[in-house]
Amino acid sequence: MSDGTRIRALEVLELHTAVPPAGKVGRGKGGRRTESRRETKGRPSEDRFRGALLGGALGDALGLPYEGRVLRYDEARPLQFVGHRPGRISDDTQQTMLVAEILLDCGVMDPVELSVRLQDWVTFGVGKGRATVEAIRRLASGVPWHAAGSPSAGNGAAMRVAPIGLRRWRDRSLRWTEAALCAMPTHHDPMAIASAVVMADAVASLVATAPEDFDGRRFVEDLARTADAWDPRQLPERRDPASRTSLGDRMREVPAYVDADPAAAIRDHFWSGAFVLESLPTALWCFLRHPHDPGEVLREALLVGHDTDTVASFAGTLAGALSGASQLPASLLEQVEEGDRLTADAQRLWQASVGEP
Ligand SMILES: [Mg+2]
Repeated sequence: MSDGTRIRALEVLELHTAVPPAGKVGRGKGGRRTESRRETKGRPSEDRFRGALLGGALGDALGLPYEGRVLRYDEARPLQFVGHRPGRISDDTQQTMLVAEILLDCGVMDPVELSVRLQDWVTFGVGKGRATVEAIRRLASGVPWHAAGSPSAGNGAAMRVAPIGLRRWRDRSLRWTEAALCAMPTHHDPMAIASAVVMADAVASLVATAPEDFDGRRFVEDLARTADAWDPRQLPERRDPASRTSLGDRMREVPAYVDADPAAAIRDHFWSGAFVLESLPTALWCFLRHPHDPGEVLREALLVGHDTDTVASFAGTLAGALSGASQLPASLLEQVEEGDRLTADAQRLWQASVGEP
């Protein structure tokens, strides 16, 4: 672990100690900061909470048959399940449920508990990423959670944090802390941690934004600032290692490409592999092209190729968080594996975060 990452681990642990015990949220006294006094922008509906989790699952299930395939962007690709197991979900959604249920069972994002549940998950997980599997192997051998993460900026950390964005939608401090804690057992690369915090922020922002007030440029700039705060490094791109960029700067480029030729935007600029410097901006691009039409967002993501299921899961999470589950394609949604469990998790997260007085 680098010194920089070690310092970050200590910082997030220090913040973690400020987490109020389960059941006490919003009931603090005597000047203690409580959720009800922080950053309240609007009151998200339960439909938005369901939309974030189910939209992500739908993207995962639609994209899974295409994972790892290089598609031509100009291929027509209707929004439908392909393959012999329609609706099958993969690691993205399976780990999202783990995170949701840790928040609900423990009251906080406990990285020790996540480490335990990941060791169980790896025995049945679908589409397991290499960095995650290697980290879980280290956890199983006794390496502590804060030292086990792989030095990888793959998608594995960002893909599971939507429940943290929901549970901590109005509390940036807790959201940032818990997103980082959620990332670290498997990923300790600063960009992977930054990507998890960015995704949690994205979900929190969208569920609290009235659809008619959504401003794509402002949304992206806010997320880019979060990325800058967590990992401002300018790193070589895979597409052209002579070219360097940061996660925040790459996201800032997205609005300019929204109306550009899609094939050129993806094939020649953003790419869409299992690397958050590619996948997260590409998912944002899919979302910003049709922010109020989840079906079109998902169709766009299916055309992207490479790490299709995760890009579609990111994009579906964003679209569902803004529009709600009621705006997702119902005939497809009802085929998604674990739909009832995701719905129950979303309802419980909403009850814990919004529903209580
Ligand atoms: Mg997957």
